[in-house]
Amino acid sequence: MYWEHAFLQTFAQIGADSNPVSASSPATFGVDPAWTLVEKGFTLARERALESMMTIANGYVGTRGSLPEGTSESAPATVLAGVFEGGVSSPALELVRLPDWTQLRILVEGNVLSLESGDVLEHERTLDLQHGLWLRTWRHRDVAGRVTCLRVLRLVSFHDRHLLLQSVMITPENYSGTITVESAADNPNAKIRWHSRSDGEAGLSVASTTRGVSIAVAHRTDVRAGNGQAVPWVGDLSPDGSVERWSWGARKGEVTQVHRTVVVYSSRETQDPAEEAARQLALTRDAGPVSLLAQHARAWEERWRAVEFRVVGDEEAQRALRFAVYHLISAVNPDDEHVSIGARALTGSAYKGHVFWDTEIYLLPFYIFTYPAAARTMLMYRYHTLPAARERARKHGYEGALYAWESADTGQDVTPDVVLAPDGREIQVMTGLQEHHISADVPYAVWQYWQASGDETFLFSAGADILIETARFWATRGRVESDGRYHIRTVIGPDEYHEGVDDNAYTNVMAQWTLERAAETADWLRGAHPDVWRTIARRLRMRPDEPAAWRRIAGMMFTGFDAQTNLLEQFSGFFQLDEFDFDAGRDRTMPLDILLGRELTQHSKIVKQADVVALSALLWERFPHVVHEANFRYYEPRTAHGSSLSQAFHALVSARLGDTEASVRYFREAAAIDLANGAGNGAGGVHIAALGGLWQAAVFGFAGVRLREDGLVIDPHLPTTWNEWSFTVHWRGRTLGVSIHRNPGQVTVDLKAGEPMTIELGQGAKKKIDSEHRYLARHGGSGWGPWQESTR
Ligand code: BGC
Ligand code: BGC
Repeated sequence: MYWEHAFLQTFAQIGADSNPVSASSPATFGVDPAWTLVEKGFTLARERALESMMTIANGYVGTRGSLPEGTSESAPATVLAGVFEGGVSSPALELVRLPDWTQLRILVEGNVLSLESGDVLEHERTLDLQHGLWLRTWRHRDVAGRVTCLRVLRLVSFHDRHLLLQSVMITPENYSGTITVESAADNPNAKIRWHSRSDGEAGLSVASTTRGVSIAVAHRTDVRAGNGQAVPWVGDLSPDGSVERWSWGARKGEVTQVHRTVVVYSSRETQDPAEEAARQLALTRDAGPVSLLAQHARAWEERWRAVEFRVVGDEEAQRALRFAVYHLISAVNPDDEHVSIGARALTGSAYKGHVFWDTEIYLLPFYIFTYPAAARTMLMYRYHTLPAARERARKHGYEGALYAWESADTGQDVTPDVVLAPDGREIQVMTGLQEHHISADVPYAVWQYWQASGDETFLFSAGADILIETARFWATRGRVESDGRYHIRTVIGPDEYHEGVDDNAYTNVMAQWTLERAAETADWLRGAHPDVWRTIARRLRMRPDEPAAWRRIAGMMFTGFDAQTNLLEQFSGFFQLDEFDFDAGRDRTMPLDILLGRELTQHSKIVKQADVVALSALLWERFPHVVHEANFRYYEPRTAHGSSLSQAFHALVSARLGDTEASVRYFREAAAIDLANGAGNGAGGVHIAALGGLWQAAVFGFAGVRLREDGLVIDPHLPTTWNEWSFTVHWRGRTLGVSIHRNPGQVTVDLKAGEPMTIELGQGAKKKIDSEHRYLARHGGSGWGPWQESTR
């Protein structure tokens, strides 16, 4: 491809660069169709959803994929993880928007270049998933017939999270004339006041939030004409120094480069962010954009190697998984224990950056199995917000810790009291008051991480506290009633269409499970690590009878399980609700609860999203196959998939049930939520939980991976189009490559590093594997044959 050649060649001419991009990588930027998301042309109505999909982020900072010159539909935003602004409830706390560092107005002989006027000769945007690059080519003919070509490369560095770069090449193709470039550091739509200054060399914008965080954005723009000469800064357009301008006489065919380097710091990382940002920015002048680009691309390649996977036979699925993993990698910062991932990560304004159960249940498994350090950091966020969760439990009259339904910087609950429906009506929000299963979801993730990592330091210093404090909450949240059973009343389960329900099966079973795990952990610690236990017991003021009480309550927990039908009643009274004719309401764009109204939804068997089915996904070993089967068959046809969290878990569970037809359909639907704006609300950001769910569907569903105390189970149910599914998982310091072939059915496992471990295939025999050998098992009509080993 012409463009990266020319681009990088010109790049390489920037004298100061001592560390050019390695010969192999630049040629691959944006080229490989298996690694790129390409949008050709320009469709105004798609703009916002596309900006979400094409966000570039590094867990610290995220920038939506907006066009530099903007369009009437553009919603550019750059946000920092964990930096919020606003009031706790009203106006709701939301992620602060930084000055739009990507903004660039280009004028040819005084006329602004715009996609919305003149002729678009060529327009293509590419998200390079492999190298974390946003790329654009635009050839435009203005009303005077002048053809200008623009190429843009944008990145937020994966090597140094504070660095951002946008490089633009401008070529007048059929004319010579005056070109002017204007860039604005200001953000007129920002909620907080930014103060900007510039001396022509570099600029700085600073602001402080009501939450006491100060932010500094330092920026420098280098403009080089075709002859390599620096194009001088013309000056400031605005009284506060926020709009800068360059102007030059461009000659036909000559390429002018505009490199904008930005450094962001906040007082969360350093005492004097303005000074630090300016200092780091000065250092980038010596390094130059090419080495910045090279370091960034290498860091991305390295991360991909740790998550390596491959689907052979279904390119669409392969790309969907790459897209998912691109965003999952972009979302996390393993160096910051005080932030976690919001419902739309750093890609859009929906849910205001708030952290939900999405993180622990839908996202964490990906990190636990491919990036344990990141998983640990995210759990530490829940550890650091434990004080707020304790406070919340106390406020509601319970012991222990009740996590916020929606959490932001401190862990205080920031769920809004009201939201606006698509039709403008105000809707009362009950989730903040009643959706308590979050306090079982967090310990679930703690346990899963502990099982998969064996990280004792984490368990001893943080994990045990979360397990115990949430168990204490559940031990006081309900009570034993006259039937001798422990009931949990007035909750909202994952199915938010039914509010104020009693004994939601998901909540109760997860609470029961939490109580059991906490008791088990306490007993194990007391026996195996008495010194550690003494410290923890003192720290948490443990009463000696607590673990026994948790066990007792767990034993009395009402779960709604009916042994006759094998069904778990989603909540008390669900089976008595009215049936709903789903087919009648198929072709709708509005969520069912809004369409039908609260009353009707409450009284009907309309399930918003995987609820009992989510239990199957999480606690597969707890119930026999027939129970999973019965519940899936009962609830699946009654589920509206009114949340993007729903489809992926349906894919996972149906795969485990061996229903390949359903699992493939749900996998595709889950992938389409972002890639095809399937939920219609992509403008608000990518649905990061659905993307995490997609990875889970592939690994836990299609490959059937499950955790065991001494190793892993693999129980494949591949889609008919997947000839091969290979992936990498980490388990207790080991790296394991798994490769599943469909025809002929065969599994190979390769312990790449680490001590021996146990692998179980399907319901078959266990095998102890080591890193000296490779192991292969074949499927003969009736089941898996024995493992054969060969020396590596
Ligand atoms: C979600 C709730 C959330 C509420 C307010 C709703 O769309 O379903 O879980 O608490 O918005 O953010
Ligand atoms: C879902 C919740 C989810 C929230 C944020 C809601 O629509 O019902 O389960 O936590 O969105 O993604």
